[in-house]
Amino acid sequence: MTARADLSILPGGAGAAGLGPLRFRGLGRAGDLDLDFADPDRPRLVTAVLAACAEPACGDDPIWALTLAARIGGLLAVWSAASGDDLLELRLRCPGAGCGADLEAGLPVTALVDLAREAEAAPVLELPDGLRLRRPTGADQRLWRRTPERDPEGAILATLTLAGQLPDTREARVELAEQMAEFDPLPAFAVTIRCPDCGRESTIPADLEAECLARLARVQDRLFADVDALARRYGWTDAAILDMPARRRARYLAMAEAEGGWP
Ligand SMILES: [Zn+2]
Repeated sequence: MTARADLSILPGGAGAAGLGPLRFRGLGRAGDLDLDFADPDRPRLVTAVLAACAEPACGDDPIWALTLAARIGGLLAVWSAASGDDLLELRLRCPGAGCGADLEAGLPVTALVDLAREAEAAPVLELPDGLRLRRPTGADQRLWRRTPERDPEGAILATLTLAGQLPDTREARVELAEQMAEFDPLPAFAVTIRCPDCGRESTIPADLEAECLARLARVQDRLFADVDALARRYGWTDAAILDMPARRRARYLAMAEAEGGWP
């Protein structure tokens, strides 16, 4: 569960005063069993996971102040530390008419976390006409969630504008949103892949935040199963079981399994 130094992220935004690089450990402590992966408020869940796993501990505020890209990078670091995996394998479906073949894409975690670091290091998009837009943060996401707007895209662009005038035509705004997506690829991630069945190349959107959260929910399921097996057998508390070195716990679990003591 040790945090990986190579996946650390240096916060660069306003909430980062005095903070050094953040590392993120994997899930595995007793307190992590309280994380509610069924929480429909996704920004709140992401903040809870990252604040629980950040090293050094920094509280919630600097986590809210991270760009959406860095929050995804942090989740990738948490998942990678917990699972030992270096590749995020995505299962996709070919959108080609009449095809629908299953596709797989493997994304290196280090390359994705590099994008998260770049987002913190360069938080502002400068456009030639003097328009300056900053990347969205967790705090922005929380605000947008609380105050639904009639024109959500316009409201989002307005909050992110630091200087200059937003375009007033719909076409120009769509173009601007596309430039933002290109500038900030992690929150608006898409995989370009050629389908081996129909030969068609497609760009398929992938929700990396949801992918990470789904994997972390499975890590937590596994922790509950381990605790359940050992608590039944030995009567230990969840904290005692999870504080134990992983190798020792694995041996007890193997013994419990060998005796058919758990399903
Ligand atoms: Zn296809």
